[in-house]
Amino acid sequence: MKTLTMLAAATAALLASGAGAQQKLNVVATTPDLGALALEIGGTAVDVKVLAKPTEDPHFVDAKPSLIVTLNRADVLIDGGAELELGWLPALLQSARNTKIAAGAPGRISASRGIQMMDVPVTLDRSRGDVHALGNPHFLLDPANVKIVVAQIAQHFAQVAPASASVFQANLARFNAALDAKIPQWQARLAPHRGGKIVTYHNDFIYLARLYGLQVVATLEPKPGIAPSPAHVAEVIAAMKSAGARVILVQPYQNRRTAETVARQTDAQVLLVPQQPGVVANTATYIQLMDHTITTLAAALGAAR
Ligand SMILES: [Zn+2]
Repeated sequence: MKTLTMLAAATAALLASGAGAQQKLNVVATTPDLGALALEIGGTAVDVKVLAKPTEDPHFVDAKPSLIVTLNRADVLIDGGAELELGWLPALLQSARNTKIAAGAPGRISASRGIQMMDVPVTLDRSRGDVHALGNPHFLLDPANVKIVVAQIAQHFAQVAPASASVFQANLARFNAALDAKIPQWQARLAPHRGGKIVTYHNDFIYLARLYGLQVVATLEPKPGIAPSPAHVAEVIAAMKSAGARVILVQPYQNRRTAETVARQTDAQVLLVPQQPGVVANTATYIQLMDHTITTLAAALGAAR
């Protein structure tokens, strides 16, 4: 009898937790930064899954079959858009056969919508493997762009789950207020380093550079998505020496050895400044990640002078 009672209680608890989980919106984000923003707005009303690992290049994610299952069960998909995921997402979406997250559906949020993109080419040209054919998709390092994206997330979440609309609005207001408190702090932190010179592996820091008046002297990739060639690396070294650039920013998935080789010849330092939350400790949220990015950059630019 006792065993039966316990079993009944366990079953009831299981059903209750199952019912609770069903009410949550199944949100899938292509990259961890978008996943972190989804969590800010969705809070306890959503369950967020992320397709790319924080250490994976968002342009070239391993399209594992398990990701198809994740996409098939999604109520909402948030992608970066502007062809950030062109190399891997379309095929997964085709296999997932989920109309809820089809382009144009309320369950589909493309973050780049409404963003004023930098480096939009005059003519579309992917012939040489350029992965930024619609403009530079690494726009989340500018908090002004993040505000546009979270507003869009809140709006779509409310459309898909109207019962939680007030929760999403409250979370949006709270997040925007937190961001507004941080923006002047970040400005002040980098203000002494205006005109500071940086080199990046991929062309992924231009929004941040524009915002804080930093100068991207060169990129190790000759074009976005194209591996550095010896001839191009020689050009980068010459440009760095001529400009006096002494900071090279890399992501975990980029070839650090190439960056180190260049650094040795230019008296520069190679700095891991991840664009995705969770690569380094205490950077799970967008604000924590930006805190870390700004602090790291300020220290490096201070030392480089
Ligand atoms: Zn890129």
